[in-house]
Amino acid sequence: MIAQYTTPMAREDMLMCDDKRLDDATAAVHLGRDPAAQHGFVNPPVYRGSTVLFPTLEALHARTQPYTYGRRATPTTRALTDAIAALEGGAMTVLTSSGLQAVTSALLAFVKSGDSILMVDSVYQPTRKFCDTALKAMGVETVYYDPLIGAGIADLVTPTTRLIFTESPGSQTFEMQDIPAIAAIARDKGVWLLMDNTWASPRYFKPFAHGVDVSIQALTKYVVGHADAMLGAVTGNERAAPYLDRIKEALGLSAGSEETYLALRGLRTLDVRLERHMASGLEMARWLQARPEVARVMHPALPGDPGNALWKRDWLGASGLFGFTLKPPVSEAALAAFLDHLELFGMGYSWGGFESLIIPFDPRSYRTATRWTEPGPALRIHIGLENVDDLKRDLAAGFDRLKG
Ligand SMILES: *Cc1c(COP(=O)(O)O)cnc(C)c1O
Repeated sequence: MIAQYTTPMAREDMLMCDDKRLDDATAAVHLGRDPAAQHGFVNPPVYRGSTVLFPTLEALHARTQPYTYGRRATPTTRALTDAIAALEGGAMTVLTSSGLQAVTSALLAFVKSGDSILMVDSVYQPTRKFCDTALKAMGVETVYYDPLIGAGIADLVTPTTRLIFTESPGSQTFEMQDIPAIAAIARDKGVWLLMDNTWASPRYFKPFAHGVDVSIQALTKYVVGHADAMLGAVTGNERAAPYLDRIKEALGLSAGSEETYLALRGLRTLDVRLERHMASGLEMARWLQARPEVARVMHPALPGDPGNALWKRDWLGASGLFGFTLKPPVSEAALAAFLDHLELFGMGYSWGGFESLIIPFDPRSYRTATRWTEPGPALRIHIGLENVDDLKRDLAAGFDRLKG
């Protein structure tokens, strides 16, 4: 019998079935459900609530009942936090109203005025904005480092360094980080190691098995998976859990009932969706590599990619998000001709839904620790669940317009 969320227990135990660890595909289907407790219905109900009643004064003072206030937890949010913690391999999960709020709350959990942090130069741009504005105003200094630094990060750790923040592969440019090498330095120097694990999702990268203390997910992306909700999660190991609990209470972090339900629903099909995103993404990456208009494809699962060895060593799979650059010269009008008339690829922010997306980017405008030297325009692409031949035809027509 698979353990259910209504009984508190060690996360690892939730993944056990008759003494065997469940595969993630099975876990994603079964975690956080308890049909017997809900009249046999397969899915958990959506609990909407603020007030939770206590039967007696003694119960009010003891605060031992599982639910005490809607903001803290409901059976709906508990179902999701238990499932995410188990899949990531962490000790506890806090939900937030967006992925960015998960990033900013995780950072705030550990820093104080006078501290400094080491931030990867290829980080998600809004994370960078938070560091350069709110953290700076708090008196926390951000030092950006090269994503390829590996164990060389040791040279950047000073007495004020409080944490190292990683994101792998990097947003937009897809550099792979050597997480175990950085984790060894973090442990040695006594600093926290945080990771934005959104790209792979907890299905394809196990942060805690690689020495990370805190893993961040924009659930908005692959877990929700249908572009219909914003949600984030911060998961910590045993050591980090009290810090996350404290910041959750201090900031009043809380997630909406509907959004939480949509993430639970998305979770059930995560495994099968990711398999398709990975297979189609790789096929499209190879196809783009062979196009004469394309200068470079940035996809860590592609043989020959600079990050391929690390990806093969540490990752269990790849998502459908990658990048490519075009051979110069490409005028703004030619780029517009390519992008404006695509029929299947949409242009817009976010990713991780069922649909294919494409968006141009320019790291020159914000990187500080590394230099982006690609001469041609760069594009980020998300391969959705459409048929790949249809997607190829759409892009091929775009390339014809680009040249014409
Ligand atoms: C999208 C994204 C976020 C932010 O998530 P939102 O839910 O959009 O706030 C954080 N990190 C990465 C890597 C992302 O791609």
